[in-house]
Amino acid sequence: MSIRLENVFFSYLEGTPTSQAALRNVSLEIEDGEFVGLIGPTGSGKSTLIQHFNGLLKPDSGKVFVDGVDLTLKDTQLRLIRQKVGMVFQYPEHQLFGETVLEDVGFGPRNGGLSEEEIVKRVREALAYVGLDYEVLKDQSPFELSGGQKRRVAIAGVLAMRPSVLVLDEPTAGLDPAGREEILAEIKQLHDEGGITVVLVTHSMEDVARFADRLIVMEQGTIALDGTSLEVFGQAGRLKDMGLGVPEITELMYELKAHGLDVDTEILTVAEAEAEIIRVMGWGCQK
Ligand code: ADP
Repeated sequence: MSIRLENVFFSYLEGTPTSQAALRNVSLEIEDGEFVGLIGPTGSGKSTLIQHFNGLLKPDSGKVFVDGVDLTLKDTQLRLIRQKVGMVFQYPEHQLFGETVLEDVGFGPRNGGLSEEEIVKRVREALAYVGLDYEVLKDQSPFELSGGQKRRVAIAGVLAMRPSVLVLDEPTAGLDPAGREEILAEIKQLHDEGGITVVLVTHSMEDVARFADRLIVMEQGTIALDGTSLEVFGQAGRLKDMGLGVPEITELMYELKAHGLDVDTEILTVAEAEAEIIRVMGWGCQK
C-alpha cells in the first residue's frame, strides 16, 4: 500500500491571525514495504505530516493518495483507509479504556462487525505480534499491566485491524532500555516478516540508523532531506544546523578520522564500526 502527497500545504487555525503553516508544499511517496524513519526538530511538522496519511487532517491545498485513493475528495470513505493505515500516537496507553485486554484490543474488529470467533483470532494474533500471551492476559485489566505491557497492548489494538501501513509516533518514549529494545525488535519483525510498511517518527538517530531503510528529515514544515540512512547521516553538518545529530557511533568514526585514523565514516551501527576498526588496525590477521 503506497502513500503519496502532492504539494501539501496545511495550517492550524487557518484564517486567524495566529495561523502558521505547519506543512509547506510537501510532496513525497512512501512505497509498499518501506521502513521509513521520520526525524526533525520539535515543531518541524512530523506529527502534522503523519496525520495526513490517514485523513485525520486534510490539506488546505494539495493532494493525498493512499493506494491511489484521493483522501482529499469529500466522498472518500476514510474508515477503510484508517483500518489500512494504522496510527500509534505518542503514549498510546493513555487511550486504553477496556475492562479487559480482550475488550480493548478487540475494539476495532468488534466495531467492524466481525464475529466473536474472528475477534478472538485477531486479538490473539495482535498480542502475539507484540510478544504477549493471549491466554495469560485476555481477562486482565490493561490498567494493571506494567508500563511496557500497556504500550504493547495499545499497539496490539492497532494491529488487530491488520493494517498494511503502521505509523508510530515515538513508540519507545518513556520506556526503559529493555522495553525500548523489545518494541523496536517487534516493529522490525512486523516489517520483515509481516510485510507491513512502517513509518517511525523518533528523536533517536540510533533507532532510525538501525532500522530504517530510508530517512525523511523535516524542517519548518518542509522536507529538508530524504534518502538512505547513509546519505542522510553523511550530511552531518546540515543535520547539526537543524539541531539534529548523527548516531553516536557515526560521530565516533568522524572523530577517529579527524584524529588521523583512516576509517570509513559511512558507519551506522556498532557492529559495522567494530569491523571497520578491526580492518583499519589490521587486527583481523592476528590469531
Ligand atoms: P513535530 O511533530 O515535528 O514536533 P508538529 O507537527 O507537532 O511538529 O507541529 C508543527 C507546527 O504546528 C508547530 O509550529 C506547532 O506549534 C504547530 N501545531 C501543532 N499542533 C498544533 C495545534 N493543535 N494547534 C496549533 N498549532 C499546532
